[in-house]
Amino acid sequence: MTEKTQRLEIITPERKVYSGDVRFVVVPGVEGELGFLPHHAPLVSALDIGVMRVQEENRTFKVAISGGFVEVRNNRVVVLARTAEREDEIDRERALAAKARAEERLKARTPDIDIVRAELALKRALARLKAVS
Ligand code: ATP
Repeated sequence: MTEKTQRLEIITPERKVYSGDVRFVVVPGVEGELGFLPHHAPLVSALDIGVMRVQEENRTFKVAISGGFVEVRNNRVVVLARTAEREDEIDRERALAAKARAEERLKARTPDIDIVRAELALKRALARLKAVS
């Protein structure tokens, strides 16, 4: 790790999604995007469903996450996410199908539909599509 980088770990209950040294990382905080350069002040924040942007020394990539927490301390950013997929792991067809299903449910609005659940599913699908776009 150089002066210009910080350690980033992205972890879900299922697996370690990413671990590496990065120059800059942006996460979807519940109150807006949060960007971290190396040696950021300590912080803990809740995360929204959305897209992370990760800048390594020589490449930039995106990660779709569906909520969780971020902790920043000692030049280390730890993202604990409900789910997380790097852009190269995302199945676009699956996200398109999830989007269509959620939109269909929201359009029908029959009494048995859980609106909040459908809205969250739609938001997850849109985040995955944004990450691969
Ligand atoms: P679906 O209805 O397609 O399952 P979902 O939003 O309900 O979508 P989640 O509950 O958020 O799915 O995720 C379940 C698991 O599937 C997690 O491990 C997540 O990383 C993975 N996953 C979900 N959608 C995709 C996708 N489009 N591409 C790759 N992995 C995905």
